[in-house]
Amino acid sequence: MNQVMTVKKAIITGITGQDGAYLAQLLLEKGYQVFGTYRRTSSVNFWRIEDLGIQSHSNLKLVEFDLTDQANAIRMVAEIQPDEIYNLAAQSFVGVSFEQPLATAQITGLGCVHLLEAIRIVNPKIRFYQASTSEMFGLVQEIPQQETTPFYPRSPYGVAKLYAHWMCVNYRESYGIFASSGILFNHESPLRGKEFVTRKITDSVAKIYLGKQDCLELGNMDAKRDWGFAKEYVEGMWRMLQAEHSDTYVLATNRTETVRDFVRMAFKAVGITLRFEGQAEAEIAINTANEQVLVRVNPQFYRPAEVDLLIGNPQKAIDELGWYPTTSLEELCAMMVKADLERNQTGHSF
Ligand code: NDP
Ligand code: GDP
Repeated sequence: MNQVMTVKKAIITGITGQDGAYLAQLLLEKGYQVFGTYRRTSSVNFWRIEDLGIQSHSNLKLVEFDLTDQANAIRMVAEIQPDEIYNLAAQSFVGVSFEQPLATAQITGLGCVHLLEAIRIVNPKIRFYQASTSEMFGLVQEIPQQETTPFYPRSPYGVAKLYAHWMCVNYRESYGIFASSGILFNHESPLRGKEFVTRKITDSVAKIYLGKQDCLELGNMDAKRDWGFAKEYVEGMWRMLQAEHSDTYVLATNRTETVRDFVRMAFKAVGITLRFEGQAEAEIAINTANEQVLVRVNPQFYRPAEVDLLIGNPQKAIDELGWYPTTSLEELCAMMVKADLERNQTGHSF
């Protein structure tokens, strides 16, 4: 008997970002035809998909797309006619959202609705994934945080994401669209942007170790985060869209550590032991081997409002999707330091 093999088509918005690159790699491995969107800029940077070696994959097409343009979204979805859309594009940095609250609302909040509307207009059977975030929990209401925990966002980014999340739930309930929202806790990797604290730390540790930088300046080291490995989290996104029903799921490790703990871990990965002295703005970390100050607090990196503690309970995803994280924070940190050491040695550091 002849079996017709249909190749699934997926649009990934934000393929130039960390998760977009890993998700594209995963879907290509699964035999999908992947349409990865990027923004037109004077010099587009594809370093992440190059790093993963998928840039020239025959099943990968790169598509120019801006999330703020409704017409662009409708045309793209109508032309590609995808089975699945993963909306990963966003102004994703909390720090910048305080300086650019309106741009963040347009991109991170309304952008999601441009795609939901495109689905409603073009083909309501398209499955949709929205990249929601633990930043929506914000001010601690419950520990650990789970799908039923009340939201209390503490940044324009968190508020914009919460709007997108609720629109996703509303399109699910109002129009029966398969729209799943993944509330993902922080996830990191060697492909993380350097503005985020983990990669800022691992890149600086590499530079300090190689004698290319004297000291690392950070903001609030008391903040606690639930950090997982991005490559594992994109698998969870895919699983959400293969489930029988659309829903909301938390992906997290259920372990939380301070930024200070991550600093200690990253220096340990290159054999440097730190001693922390002082408090708040006066805190420093000293190399116990030679008394050199390697870390200082700079209030410039404090935020107008902080999310003090994030720790997620991924039990629903474990039970219903069979998804669970396996990489420990120590392994993740060592992997990132190793990658940054190699990049800084070869001079190819993005
Ligand atoms: P990145 O910042 O690495 O990537 C964001 C992507 O969005 C980039 O490709 C960026 O393009 C694109 N983008 C930004 N603005 C626009 C726009 N106007 N139109 C089209 N594309 C745009 O984020 P991550 O990969 O880390 O995260 C993926 C998603 O998951 C984001 O939505 C993020 O908010 C969310 N998330 C991430 C978490 C994490 O810990 N990583 C935790 C929870 C949620 P360009 O390269 O041109 O800037
Ligand atoms: P976020 O959880 O999405 O905001 O991810 P980040 O990696 O940007 O920040 C994680 C935590 O680290 C936050 O509580 C920040 O306030 C804290 N932090 C402390 N110093 C820094 C810094 O220099 N840069 C960044 N990005 N965050 C810092």
